[in-house]
Amino acid sequence: MPTLLVFLTITLFLFHVFSSLPLVLPLIFLTLALAQYTITHLYTSHLQKTTILTDIQYLTTPPPRGRKGTAIVVGGSIAGLITSAVLLNHFDRVVVLESEEIGQNGDGKEERKHVPHGRLAHVLLPLGLKVVKTLFPGLENDLLERGGIPTQLSAQYQHIYGGLIKQTPYVPDTAIILTSRPLLESTIRHQLLLSDRIEFRSGTVVTGLVVQEGDVRGVKVFDGENKAGVVEGVVVVDATGRSARGIKWLQSLSYPTPPTTSYDPHQQYTCARFKTHSDLPSLVFNVGFPGKRHETFAIFRVENNECILGSMSTGNPHPIAPRSDEAMRDWMLASDCPELNTTMFERVGERVSEWFSWKFPGSRWVRYEEVDLPGGFVAVGDAVCSFNPIYGQGMTAAAIAATTLDATLRKTTSLKSLPKTYHTLLAHRLEPIWDTNESNDIRFKAVTPSSPLDSHRVRLERSGRVFELLVYAAQEDAAASGCLLRLMSMVAGQAEMLEWRVLWAIAKVAWRRYWE
Ligand SMILES: Cc1cc2nc3c(=O)[nH]c(=O)nc-3n(C[C@H](O)[C@H](O)[C@H](O)COP(=O)(O)OP(=O)(O)OC[C@H]3O[C@@H](n4cnc5c(N)ncnc54)[C@H](O)[C@@H]3O)c2cc1C
Repeated sequence: MPTLLVFLTITLFLFHVFSSLPLVLPLIFLTLALAQYTITHLYTSHLQKTTILTDIQYLTTPPPRGRKGTAIVVGGSIAGLITSAVLLNHFDRVVVLESEEIGQNGDGKEERKHVPHGRLAHVLLPLGLKVVKTLFPGLENDLLERGGIPTQLSAQYQHIYGGLIKQTPYVPDTAIILTSRPLLESTIRHQLLLSDRIEFRSGTVVTGLVVQEGDVRGVKVFDGENKAGVVEGVVVVDATGRSARGIKWLQSLSYPTPPTTSYDPHQQYTCARFKTHSDLPSLVFNVGFPGKRHETFAIFRVENNECILGSMSTGNPHPIAPRSDEAMRDWMLASDCPELNTTMFERVGERVSEWFSWKFPGSRWVRYEEVDLPGGFVAVGDAVCSFNPIYGQGMTAAAIAATTLDATLRKTTSLKSLPKTYHTLLAHRLEPIWDTNESNDIRFKAVTPSSPLDSHRVRLERSGRVFELLVYAAQEDAAASGCLLRLMSMVAGQAEMLEWRVLWAIAKVAWRRYWE
């Protein structure tokens, strides 16, 4: 399009020079070409600032400068593993220190004491999958060999706000591989440990940072035999999850405490595993209308012909967790769309685990970008931002942080400026995700927004209404359904909603609802 406009401008200008064509015509086309160029440029830089979509392609290319020394990653769960793979590309050696005793080539059955959410339904969204597949070319095969279930999201049963999202066989970039969380994590760990430049020390608790002249020089540890020691390194990554140990380490060295943004979506999960019948769809979702229905029910198929049936309650400070099959069935029947829920319940098969409940402690974002940090110290994953799990974004947010760290390491020459540059860019990328979630969650009366400002609530309510219109449009229109799925998969910028077919579908819904 810009090339066409430039071509027309030049042609019309020549006509003006060699014939009597008025100058105003080439000037109009010149203005259009400049406007088009400016919009494209602004859109590309906005996408670059707020998403990792353009950064992913560089993840495995050699960085402009190799850095000497060891990078230390504290926490060997999903964020620690993905970040370690990124750091291997930049540093001589990477050491992962994990407090729990975990096997190095687990079979996916391990249950982690500090990661109880591993027993609950987990999906790695397409963007997160894209990052891990780029970092670990062998991962997809490995996951499929271990029983992962390849699934096209657009072909699944997603019943949202009282209607089925229009199913299509294929929407670009929305494929996922369904597995249990332990299988996913142990497969990524297995792939990471194929490198001989990585050392994974489990049973090692990190108790503090070693900082000299404003730069990290390592961490203090207690190893499996409770021996205190120091592990030296030039970069320390806090990947300790919700516990965000880094805050305490910084406080003990008299660094300022980073402010936090938080709210409680009153989210509770209850899940159990079932041995499934083979004709069960890979994924079924029944998401209630936010503000009116607290419950979401879901089935996720996983390895070994099993599936996880989960009920998630949002916005209810006192949910009753159903702990028996009968209680769960009654709960499902009393909810939105009981026919779908009954079918789901009747098809899951025979239960093979206890019902397990988990109350989410609240959405929390540590604003590291607002404080001074020692050179070489950064945080990733839940240690920075822990989202309401119902949206399934936590592991993908960990992948976003790792990719952002990669992009920052490529641009910065000094490790001193790394924390500020990285955390500022990461904040730009987390903000749209946080806002979308919060705008949905505050539709429940019991959920208090993260800021008391009226302008904050008004802004979120407006974006919540736009999202709601997109969901309704997606129930009847394939273009809108593709757009919704790509946004939920995090593989598209929000500007995809401006595509004319999507706008048309939304406009039709808005028009109808206005007159109803
Ligand atoms: C119920 C529920 C459902 C969810 N569903 C999804 C989903 O469907 N999709 C999705 O993407 N996300 C989901 N999430 C979110 C996801 O689980 C988290 O975002 C993700 O686990 C964060 O990974 P992490 O590595 O940052 O932290 P964690 O997984 O919490 O790991 C932190 C690690 O640090 C270690 N550690 C802690 N302190 C120390 C120390 N001092 N020294 C050494 N090691 C230490 C811990 O042992 C642990 O291994 C869900 C979360 C919950 C609660």
